[in-house]
Amino acid sequence: MEHNLTIYNTLTRKKELFKPLKEPFAGMYVCGPTVYGDPHLGHARPAITFDLVFRYLKHLGYKVRYVRNITDVGHLEQDLDEGEDKIAKKAMLEQVEPMEVVQYYTDRYHHFMEMLNVLQPSIEPRASGHIIEQIEMIQKILDAGFAYIVNGSVYFDVEKYNQTHQYGKLSGRKLEDLISNTRQLEGQEEKRNPADFALWKKAQPEHIMRWPSPWSNGFPGWHLECSAMGTRYLGEQFDIHGGGMDLLFPHHECEIAQSRIANGKDAVQYWLHNNMITINGQKMGKSLGNAVNLEQFFNGNHPLLEQAYSPMTIRFFMLQAHYRSTLDFSNEALQAAEKGLRKLMSAWETLKSLQLAVRRRHRAQSTGHRAQS
Ligand SMILES: [Zn+2]
Repeated sequence: MEHNLTIYNTLTRKKELFKPLKEPFAGMYVCGPTVYGDPHLGHARPAITFDLVFRYLKHLGYKVRYVRNITDVGHLEQDLDEGEDKIAKKAMLEQVEPMEVVQYYTDRYHHFMEMLNVLQPSIEPRASGHIIEQIEMIQKILDAGFAYIVNGSVYFDVEKYNQTHQYGKLSGRKLEDLISNTRQLEGQEEKRNPADFALWKKAQPEHIMRWPSPWSNGFPGWHLECSAMGTRYLGEQFDIHGGGMDLLFPHHECEIAQSRIANGKDAVQYWLHNNMITINGQKMGKSLGNAVNLEQFFNGNHPLLEQAYSPMTIRFFMLQAHYRSTLDFSNEALQAAEKGLRKLMSAWETLKSLQLAVRRRHRAQSTGHRAQS
């Protein structure tokens, strides 16, 4: 391919020339949403960032397979290995079936991504549809001796892994620091080491989302689904893995370790991470009262918003900043983006009408010539 695309690789911490494993194909996996609530800016930024990467790779002539998953099971509260499943909790609150929650918020996510002009990925796999692949992967890790079973749950042995591999190479963390900084939380006594993470959890009686496995009736650990679905659709090795910086640790670090042991090789060539979003200089959060969702941005219906902002203003604003920098949303900045976009669009309209006028003139001249001859 006749181009030089360089991308910043989080793993090596430098810009590298993009060379896919199997030209002209390019494979990209991006961590998608856990569908238990309405999409907000934290969903829009990775979607828009990697939409641009997807479009640009296609523009360069690559045959791109873009996989972005839907997490519909195994993502527990506070991203921990203990506690309630985010989707099951919502289902209980609303007295519906967990898959109703999943369907409803997946549809909402699609709707708002379409408004933001984000293309659908080539494949959008769901974690619950890939339990078999996840069980197979756990078995491979157990067979290789890097996981252990306690009371029907299976944990990845981080300390053993770290003896021969470098756990923390993506995030730059060191295992010793992780161990000394991690408290042994209640309910985690099953782990040999606080840094270990769950590959499979035995379901407690009240846990409604559960599947049979060789170890127990239970559910997969959150990190496992991306390793399993990435392997399933892009192969044991593929080009790009993307996601938000908040997923760097532990999610992506665990993915690296699982895939390395299960498949015997490093899965990902280039790791890309988009930075976080703040609102009026503050981190977004429900407790801070500044969690504005996309629908509220589009209809202006939130005390923090002075007006409604069109989806294209939001997209334009996000793309004006570098994806690796933090981005602060404020009314002022959004109004400036709105103005900038209006100017850009009117310049484009002018260009279009000029082009049309020139074409018309050419046509008139050539018919004039023909009439004369
Ligand atoms: Zn993921």
